[in-house]
Amino acid sequence: MDNSIDKQIDKQLTIIGSGPAGLTAALYAARGNLNPMVIEGFPPGGQLTLTTDVENFPGFPDGVMGPDLMNKFREQSEKFGAEIITGEVKEVDFSTKNFKLFLDNNTIINSKSVIISTGASAKMLGLKEESLLIGKGVSTCATCDGFFFRDQDVIVVGGGDSAMEEALFLTKFAKKVYIIHRREEFRASQIMLDRAKSNEKIEFILNCEVIKINNPNENKVTDVVLKNNKTDKTNNMNIDAVFIAIGHIPNTSLFKNYLNLNENGYILTEEGTKTNIPGVFACGDVQDWEYRQAITAAGSGCMAAIDTERYLANL
Ligand code: NAP
Repeated sequence: MDNSIDKQIDKQLTIIGSGPAGLTAALYAARGNLNPMVIEGFPPGGQLTLTTDVENFPGFPDGVMGPDLMNKFREQSEKFGAEIITGEVKEVDFSTKNFKLFLDNNTIINSKSVIISTGASAKMLGLKEESLLIGKGVSTCATCDGFFFRDQDVIVVGGGDSAMEEALFLTKFAKKVYIIHRREEFRASQIMLDRAKSNEKIEFILNCEVIKINNPNENKVTDVVLKNNKTDKTNNMNIDAVFIAIGHIPNTSLFKNYLNLNENGYILTEEGTKTNIPGVFACGDVQDWEYRQAITAAGSGCMAAIDTERYLANL
């Protein structure tokens, strides 16, 4: 860590992350006169800024574009006095009562309380084209995007519970769902696997990896190239969408020396949004491996702000 410090700021509350959880926490905290500062992180606005249409956020019967929704969240929290700053937290020190956050622009924030809403990132396959195609036929969220592929053929990549769950959900819309898994053994629980196997819309393609996604017109996937891991043979498969379900990585590396995490790295919370350190709260996908929706993240952001307000009042 570079020791040259340009600036120190004292805050009652600092919120790390600016997705639905962080900005909802900011809105409630600002309205509770806590003068919150939000360190927006990357991408500003969180995972929703990487999607296109959001049709399942209540209050938008005609849908809303992910980035537009996050701009509204931002505007609303700023209207009530939340201060949102560009930057990333590079290191934290939660060992003292006044927590220290070290930013990438040589600023230190001394904060009486902290809300962590750094989210989780979907694991990607590592193909150079895939992140450019998010929202254009490549998705990491069947709940968000499955509806767009009604009566079409889709693939789900992965062999864990997420892949089974995504595939089962997609059978409500798609004509056919192929699960592409790189091995013959599954990480998925037997019950989820059995459910997927007994669904007549689902077909398994095993020992195969997706090595290329073709989207010639830049707005519609046409096919993928599959490589058989046993024979090394490749073949093209015509398909309308690719759902990547190979797991998520919670963004918790900054906190692992201080906070209790579960075996997959998610922050463990109890009694609402409390972590094991009094005054440090967590909300949204960074502590939720179960629901992972914008609306549930926003709800837990509200809870974190209320929990923080009570904590500060009792100091
Ligand atoms: P996971 O259990 O780690 O499974 C990830 C799957 O993706 C594995 O089959 C893995 O293949 C495959 N994979 C990883 N990287 C890959 C790559 N680069 N290319 C191709 N395939 C790749 O992750 P998850 O399914 O997200 O589940 C995470 C946790 O959440 C689990 O504990 C799960 O039980 C839980 N969960 C529960 C539910 C539920 O109960 N309803 C739903 C979702 C998740 P290999 O097997 O070859 O490594």
